[in-house]
Amino acid sequence: MSTAENQSDSDVPADAPHACPGTSSNLAGQVSACAGCPNQSICSSGETRRIDPALVEIAQRLSSVKHIILVLSGKGGVGKTTVSVMLARALARNPQLRVALLDIDICGPSVPRALGVENEQVHPSGSGWSPVYVSENLSAMSVGFLLTSLEQAVIWKGPRKDNMIKQFLLDVDWGEGELDYLIVDTPPGTSDEHLSVVNYLKNVASLSGCILVTTPQEISLQDVRKEISFVKQTNLNVLGIVENMSIFKCGKCHKESQIFPKHHGLRELCETNQYELLSSIPIDPSIAKCCDDGEDLFDIYPDSSTAKVYLNLAEKIQEKCQLK
Ligand code: ADP
Repeated sequence: MSTAENQSDSDVPADAPHACPGTSSNLAGQVSACAGCPNQSICSSGETRRIDPALVEIAQRLSSVKHIILVLSGKGGVGKTTVSVMLARALARNPQLRVALLDIDICGPSVPRALGVENEQVHPSGSGWSPVYVSENLSAMSVGFLLTSLEQAVIWKGPRKDNMIKQFLLDVDWGEGELDYLIVDTPPGTSDEHLSVVNYLKNVASLSGCILVTTPQEISLQDVRKEISFVKQTNLNVLGIVENMSIFKCGKCHKESQIFPKHHGLRELCETNQYELLSSIPIDPSIAKCCDDGEDLFDIYPDSSTAKVYLNLAEKIQEKCQLK
């Protein structure tokens, strides 16, 4: 195999020469291109090829999870947490499925509130941390459950966040038997948390891929393009794109209005990258209210068009995961 074929973008440091064989390659530190590279001594020591034992333990812990789905967005405020929560709730409408939601937005955890369990705490058990159960077949884990007050700010640097994510993946006991879906809500952008979670899950066979969430606005799409660059560099499978806040339908006159300027950017982006537009979710004040109040939209507005859009998204996700 040639040097170029051995190379994976994710293990080429930014300061490495163009022909870097990759830090995890057997050739790391050994080829002529390595001469003069600031990483040569650590690469040739073999240190970069050492496998973190946590990767193996995480793969074992998550071997009872059938499908892991990351929810990503380039920008904050586009509805990524809402999509994560609603997708988890939609999947859990099927009593045959066991669903869990892991919130790795360490500095801004809003999953506990949106699920109506923000005053709950998690407890250590003999086999790890027990998650909080929202219903019989829907559980959640978030740093929010570990804080002593709702106003407490988490001001952590990269290594501490990385440790927390590692602990979530290693130590949460998702319960007896198999978990069908583990939805992972991430912070916006491509930050420490994303690198950590992708690194820890790279050997986990059940990582089905990610969903990218955006609004129709060009300013949100710009950040989705950066997110796409991240998923390509880390070889993350894209299950598809969710367009949130696509239109507003007036509850009184039923007229549809376009609140955010809509361009052809999203269609082009899907075509260029061969991604499926999984769903276009309307702006619906009842979603915002349910998430604020921690209520389940499927209980309160079961016949609403938004509930149907989300159930349809859940069906598509199940089909995609079965195909993978
Ligand atoms: P993010 O996780 O991307 O930062 P959130 O999910 O927290 O975004 O959503 C931001 C705000 O927008 C929240 O107040 C949420 O209730 C609201 N929201 C999200 N999607 C919709 C929607 N389709 N209709 C109405 N409000 C929405």
